[in-house]
Amino acid sequence: RSKVLLDIQQEYEGSIVSYPRKMPIAIKKAKGSIIEDVDGNLFIDFFSGCGVLNVGHCNDFVLEYVRNQQSELIHALDFPTENKMLLIQKILDHLPKDIRRDYKVSFGGPTGSDAVEAAIKLAKIKTGRDGIIAFTGGYHGMTSGALAVTSDTYFRNNITSLMPNVHFAPFSYPYRSVSDKDNEIDYFKNILTNSHSGIPKPAAILVEPIQGEGGNIVPEDGYLEELVRIARDNDVLVIFDEIQSGFFRTGSFLEFMNTKAVPDIITFSKGFGGIGFPISGLIYRREIEAWGPAAHIGTFRANQVSIAASRGALEFIEKYNVQEYTKKIGEYFIKKLYRLQEDFDFIGDVRGRGMMIGVEIVKDVLTKEPFPEFVTIFRDECFKRGLLFEVGGHYNNVIRFVPPLITTTKIVDAAIEILEEAITICTK
Ligand code: PMP
Repeated sequence: RSKVLLDIQQEYEGSIVSYPRKMPIAIKKAKGSIIEDVDGNLFIDFFSGCGVLNVGHCNDFVLEYVRNQQSELIHALDFPTENKMLLIQKILDHLPKDIRRDYKVSFGGPTGSDAVEAAIKLAKIKTGRDGIIAFTGGYHGMTSGALAVTSDTYFRNNITSLMPNVHFAPFSYPYRSVSDKDNEIDYFKNILTNSHSGIPKPAAILVEPIQGEGGNIVPEDGYLEELVRIARDNDVLVIFDEIQSGFFRTGSFLEFMNTKAVPDIITFSKGFGGIGFPISGLIYRREIEAWGPAAHIGTFRANQVSIAASRGALEFIEKYNVQEYTKKIGEYFIKKLYRLQEDFDFIGDVRGRGMMIGVEIVKDVLTKEPFPEFVTIFRDECFKRGLLFEVGGHYNNVIRFVPPLITTTKIVDAAIEILEEAITICTK
């Protein structure tokens, strides 16, 4: 049955389709961390709809919020509703106490890319400047502005009219950097402070505090703090893209709260939609408010069901202390992966925070030569045994785990067993 649906898709849906090419299933239903396909096969979902299903597929606690909301109000444009004001309040309440009064929340269109567009626009309006400094390996979306700040040229080839004045600085990549973070910081500092850099003063820097699609890369300690300090010293705004790292994925509400770096603008989406409802927006400092009234509009901003799902998910996370659980289960999982690394020469690096974990595959642990061909075969073997994950990274050689935060130890153990079996097959 899966095959029939995949064939129909191949024939009639635009060939832009991406994920089913790597994980060829037709999904029937899903609960928690488990997906069932139309043939009754079960899969462990460590992909989570690309880092969205933080509280698990079809979470019953959240569904209750959804059901109640959908019979009352679904579409309300940007009119105030109690539902929406409660979510704004909740988002602000989850920020650190000493800064929460300094921020506002605004909602964008339904996708992460919408939030990125809004953030860039706000920074430009506020500063009256045009440029953005983005980072190598960064992913921010597929709309014109968001694509312009996404580094992977695969997505940009032949598209010549992207937003101009974007420059890429190297992201801190502890596994591959030739020295500590100083090289990356020097490069960045040079752009902002050297009058011979050839790059006019930008409006903002835009950075993922942990790179997601770039390979779940946690930058070196102190790197983000240095970026923020240098940007502030030079009157440049700081945008953190927390679309993937946010909503407790890394064991804190937002990843910046695990650091001492405090951004001016934060983009959010993905997990904020509770159980997969579309939502996105900005959390930004009051003092940079620069929108004229109705200067940034859109029909599908903050759908009321998405908002209710978001509130439900936050309520669920608080009630069951999912934040602490994420840290524990993340540690449990990563320790098992470290153990695999000891026995398996191709694993160059295991890294991550909370339930955002990357495993980098290399031909040789000494040369660190990327081994994407192996990852493709390995992913297929895991898929056959019922484990789903995404592959990403600067060299397409990183296994990216972003499981639901509520994943049990039993499911982690089952996933590890599949990984071990696949390793045995692939190294025969
Ligand atoms: N920013 C980051 C960090 C992301 O991971 C993504 C999606 N992978 C986006 C932006 C774009 O979000 P969307 O696909 O919803 O447009």
